[in-house]
Amino acid sequence: MGKPASSSLIRVGVLGAGGRMGAAIIAAVAADPRLRLAGAVERAGHTAVGSALPGGLSVCTNSSALAHNCDVFIDFTAPGALAGNLDSACLGNCALVVGTTGLTAADHAAIDRAARHIAVLQAANTALGVTLLAALVEQAAARLGADWDIEIAELHHRDKRDAPSGTALLLGDAAARGRGVRLADVEATGDRNRARRSGEIGFASLRGGSAAGDHSVLLLGDGERIELTHRAESRDIFARGAVGAAAWLAGRPPGRYTMAQVLGF
Ligand code: NAD
Repeated sequence: MGKPASSSLIRVGVLGAGGRMGAAIIAAVAADPRLRLAGAVERAGHTAVGSALPGGLSVCTNSSALAHNCDVFIDFTAPGALAGNLDSACLGNCALVVGTTGLTAADHAAIDRAARHIAVLQAANTALGVTLLAALVEQAAARLGADWDIEIAELHHRDKRDAPSGTALLLGDAAARGRGVRLADVEATGDRNRARRSGEIGFASLRGGSAAGDHSVLLLGDGERIELTHRAESRDIFARGAVGAAAWLAGRPPGRYTMAQVLGF
């Protein structure tokens, strides 16, 4: 079982405190009356280490020590930090929301192993709108025949490291599920100098400026097309979703959970 909340407030630890999302999540935790910020972690050497947090706390570097004082961690860091964050959460019997993207199959296997001991929710996008969009894409792909092509386009700020974005892959996965196939078997990658093969799902990634994240799923038939688009106007939507997920996850039994479960889809 997960650690029961020791007071009426759920104690939250934020991992990646000095990052774009870390700052938005710390603000969202402070604004949520169900939650109390128990601490926040940055990698050693980062300028944010030691800086002040709400409640008289300061940013530290030790996630294992913090885990013992938390009911749930929210991790928006980098793929290389995942293994250590999973270990800390397991040792401290602390639930974990993983928002980091660019995860490999080995990372997902590590999450599955940790989920035998603690509650873990991994979501490449924690926004309500994207969770709903994924459900719509799955339904559309199931209803439209294989003669409709599916392409996914995304735009993100110039500093984003992974492409296609985790959200684009999440949407591709939803489309593949709707068609009853595995994304890995139909994902069009690399080899661009040829026509699309029937049933392939293509991806296009644009980078620049400060865009928080736009995603369009194009369903392309002969003589007509449908465009399903989500535009993130600020990172606050991801932070609110992650904080809502943390409040939902704290105290749950070990297992792997999804945003669709949090939102009751
Ligand atoms: P960022 O680079 O601004 O912030 C990441 C922070 O994590 C950095 O400050 C970095 O120093 C820190 N970090 C790295 N290793 C660490 C460790 N071991 N311990 C503690 N801190 C560590 O990036 P960002 O824009 O905030 O995004 C972070 C991640 O979240 C990316 O993978 C991004 O794609 C993803 N993201 C997910 C969603 C979602 O809804 N799930 C939304 C936006 C971004």
